[in-house]
Amino acid sequence: MTSKLAKIKKSLEERREVLMQRISRVKTGMKAEHSADWSEQAQERQNDEVLEAIGNESRNELAQINQALERMESGDYTRCSNCGEDISLKRLEAVPYTHRCINCAE
Ligand SMILES: [Zn+2]
Repeated sequence: MTSKLAKIKKSLEERREVLMQRISRVKTGMKAEHSADWSEQAQERQNDEVLEAIGNESRNELAQINQALERMESGDYTRCSNCGEDISLKRLEAVPYTHRCINCAE
């Protein structure tokens, strides 16, 4: 693995760490006790919706990161899943979750 790929891998792993922490905080936040006050309940419901959106977004991103890391493990990371050509490192640095080369992505 080249040092550039190792660097991408490291940043993916760091991002994964951040996302996993965020997801667990969202879970904790949503499980929090709801108050009896009606207006506060409305506020809390709104917060839950925001938390849920953050949670879903984070889970999607986490899934993409895990797939990218799996492709690194299997050695397919730099190969386009569509045409089999190499994906340029420049592109992978810019869009580390991508599994398509620039030609296939467009
Ligand atoms: Zn391609």
